[in-house]
Amino acid sequence: MIKLAKDLYLIEGDNNARFPFCNAFLITGRETVIIDTGIGEQKLKEIDRTNRIDRVIISHSHPDHISGYSVLRDRYLMLPEETGDEVNDLVKLGTRLTGSTEDGIKWAAFVKNILRLEPLRDPDGRYGNGDILDFDSVRLEAIHVPGHLNDHYCFFDHESKTLLSTDIDFSSFGPWYGNPECSIEPFIKGIRKVMTFPYDQVCSSHKLPITGVAAKGCFEQFLEMFDRHRQQILGLCDSPTTLDQMAAISPFYGNKLKGTIVQDVFEKNMIQKNLDLLVRDGLLEKQNGYFRRIG
Ligand SMILES: [Zn+2]
Repeated sequence: MIKLAKDLYLIEGDNNARFPFCNAFLITGRETVIIDTGIGEQKLKEIDRTNRIDRVIISHSHPDHISGYSVLRDRYLMLPEETGDEVNDLVKLGTRLTGSTEDGIKWAAFVKNILRLEPLRDPDGRYGNGDILDFDSVRLEAIHVPGHLNDHYCFFDHESKTLLSTDIDFSSFGPWYGNPECSIEPFIKGIRKVMTFPYDQVCSSHKLPITGVAAKGCFEQFLEMFDRHRQQILGLCDSPTTLDQMAAISPFYGNKLKGTIVQDVFEKNMIQKNLDLLVRDGLLEKQNGYFRRIG
């Protein structure tokens, strides 16, 4: 557990908080609150034994942020106002995240077997953009950052000037936008919005805390990765290429996750979202399913 400020802690997720785990944030004081539950089930049980968690806040409905939730099923649950009731059913959630029932069923089986993921339930409370979640010594402003996912939120603690940047995660992979509802431009806009908060430290869901001075560079590097992705896709279109051919090359995952939904569905979505913008911006043309660089 890393103390970030008075009554505010980061709990590092298992496996250095790499997927399928994430960091959680713990608020103590008047009540004990945890933001996200994907730190690993044993660790979560241990924290609950010593701190007795009263309230669970979920930052967005990706599996690495909600796994372990069933341990705290009887506590007060807060979800973003954008989260629909498909989170109460793994196949429905999978259908939302993959875009088809067929893949949704495969996704549900995967997260159930590998992550032991259980569905959420109807929440006891909701939060939305600009809401202040007031826990006395910690006062969190909820910041809606769609693009990564429609219901993705970051939080800013006005007391300690700590920014919880959740899945603006500064990973070397760069930004992740592999679900159908993900969108590159709102994600970039959301990151720029988050950067305007007067933070002294930044803590993401998958890395250790960064001080304010270093964070600015991390944000900029993370934003540059959008352009790197775009250039990678543009480079694949020097000669006419189909989406399937690009997916087979696997520009982002380098075929490390071949045969999985992550590569077959999510990486393909990331390629497609870049292609859409490149065609819109007049850098590519599409003919009979082939994308070709113009000029
Ligand atoms: Zn996420």
